[in-house]
Amino acid sequence: MSTLSVEELRTKVRGDVISADDEGYEEARHVYNAMIDRRPLVILRAANAGDVIAGVNAARDHDLDLAIRGGGHSVPGFGTCDGGIVIDLSGMRGVRVDPATSTARAEGGATWGDFNAATYPFGLATTGGIISTTGVAGLTLGGGIGYLTRGSGLSLDNLVSLDVVTADGRFLVASERENQDLFWALRGGGGNFGVVTSLEFRLHPVKDIYGGPMFYELSEVGNVLRFFREYIAGAPEQMGAFPAFQIAPPLPFIPEDRHGDTFIAMVACWAGDLEKGESALKPFHEVAPVVAEHVGPMPYPALNSAFDGLVPPGLQHYWKASFVNELTDEAITAHEANGPDVPVVNSTVHIYPINGAAHGVASDATAFAYRDANFATVIAGMWPEPSDNEANTAWVRNYYEAIAPHSEEGGYINFMAGDDQARIKANYKGNYERLADIKRTYDPGNLFHLNQNIKP
Ligand SMILES: Cc1cc2nc3c(=O)[nH]c(=O)nc-3n(C[C@H](O)[C@H](O)[C@H](O)COP(=O)(O)OP(=O)(O)OC[C@H]3O[C@@H](n4cnc5c(N)ncnc54)[C@H](O)[C@@H]3O)c2cc1C
Repeated sequence: MSTLSVEELRTKVRGDVISADDEGYEEARHVYNAMIDRRPLVILRAANAGDVIAGVNAARDHDLDLAIRGGGHSVPGFGTCDGGIVIDLSGMRGVRVDPATSTARAEGGATWGDFNAATYPFGLATTGGIISTTGVAGLTLGGGIGYLTRGSGLSLDNLVSLDVVTADGRFLVASERENQDLFWALRGGGGNFGVVTSLEFRLHPVKDIYGGPMFYELSEVGNVLRFFREYIAGAPEQMGAFPAFQIAPPLPFIPEDRHGDTFIAMVACWAGDLEKGESALKPFHEVAPVVAEHVGPMPYPALNSAFDGLVPPGLQHYWKASFVNELTDEAITAHEANGPDVPVVNSTVHIYPINGAAHGVASDATAFAYRDANFATVIAGMWPEPSDNEANTAWVRNYYEAIAPHSEEGGYINFMAGDDQARIKANYKGNYERLADIKRTYDPGNLFHLNQNIKP
């Protein structure tokens, strides 16, 4: 196998090829999770699909590791590697909205901030993540859970088509009409099948929403979680809401003497008629006294970036996750025991409902198998100091051990840690074998292996 000539690669692409000798290498090699410290041979900042083809061919022909980076948020750091090629799509962030068909096409490096800013003026949106800096592609290829899941399904349920560069360097369109097997696998199979250079989504009429966070005393954890379990099972699908353990940040809407205290919070997003927002949120005000809140009408993109400040780039990350069919009393007891110990203001635990429209899709209609699960729980450890790594990862692990007996075996691949590869089959349940078959068709050499890997 010949050695890659960086100079030659530079002549083949429009975007920058950054190697260790170049200014900007330090910045370019880092990803969002500061715990990840890898040194790629080159970072190819793709300018277009042609650059992506060149990068894929170079990695394959020179037998180099290949990492794909969209928004860079992968907690296990799949968007970088040691000694190989990183195809960084952060220069491809365009979003084009077509109001006539209520669709939008996003390039493979767009973030949800890019996407929501583009669709908002048209009064349209689709399900995306709750932090605006997360990548559209990485989030959607694994599932896509957010405020609009109950009304509009997972992000991947809204995909119309994708442009993909496969391991053999071909450029394919995957949709209900073309390369249907690839289209099926891309909707949940993560980055296993190729580099997605653009994604076309169905949009829904959502502009301003009514919602925001509400904080309750920790003594109310049991009440709030038991209420949430019953309420969300039958709540109108325009209601997106999730409970969270959260240390109060020093924000003006929280009484100053409570800054730094831990609360059980509820974040709500009513995406129905604005006039009905206040009454839609009434159950959240009745379940327990609200100590502090920042609730009202706001643009949907504002809620989608409201918590960005809590999770700046450069934190250490260690996460664990599982799907939950039934939030049992035993599970709630385990949350009561562990959630209040959330160590720092950046860390949190979210229990996202994935019922409603996400249940309207059959388990084998897309690669995302857990259509019978009601919740996706994530214990998101995020903290600034590397010296606190041991204590913080221990909190995540112990919490996970406590809820695991009350959860499903599988979890949401996008919330998984790097040490969760043994759970991959469980994450896909009955869909795993079909995914492995399609992997054999499109990537028999497992070029795309830096991900929650499906072995060919
Ligand atoms: C702060 C934070 C908040 C989050 N919030 C949510 C949330 O609300 N809802 C939710 O569902 N998830 C959420 N996640 C999880 C998120 O979905 C995953 O971390 C996801 O992998 C991020 O995608 P990315 O493009 O930003 O990351 P990257 O690190 O760039 O990509 C991760 C992996 O996805 C694949 N990938 C990315 N882009 C492409 C592409 N263009 N083509 C092919 N493969 C690609 C690759 O395998 C890549 O290694 C959050 C994560 C973080 C860190």
